[in-house]
Amino acid sequence: MNEPLRDPMQEEGCYYCTACGEQIIIPLDISAGNPQEYIEDCPVCCRPNILRIFWSNGISEVVAEAES
Ligand SMILES: [Zn+2]
Repeated sequence: MNEPLRDPMQEEGCYYCTACGEQIIIPLDISAGNPQEYIEDCPVCCRPNILRIFWSNGISEVVAEAES
């Protein structure tokens, strides 16, 4: 990627838990690269979600998938 002007990257994102449907707001570690993928346990129901995170023009997108 070659961006002439770097927009500040959002340092938080949100997703909907695949198990309980709650909206979860998470801090994002922008130093870990773009995109990112990791598993996080839902703070509400403790079920794991696979999170895929990427930034587009500095805007974070978090996609949650159920862990199988
Ligand atoms: Zn949940």
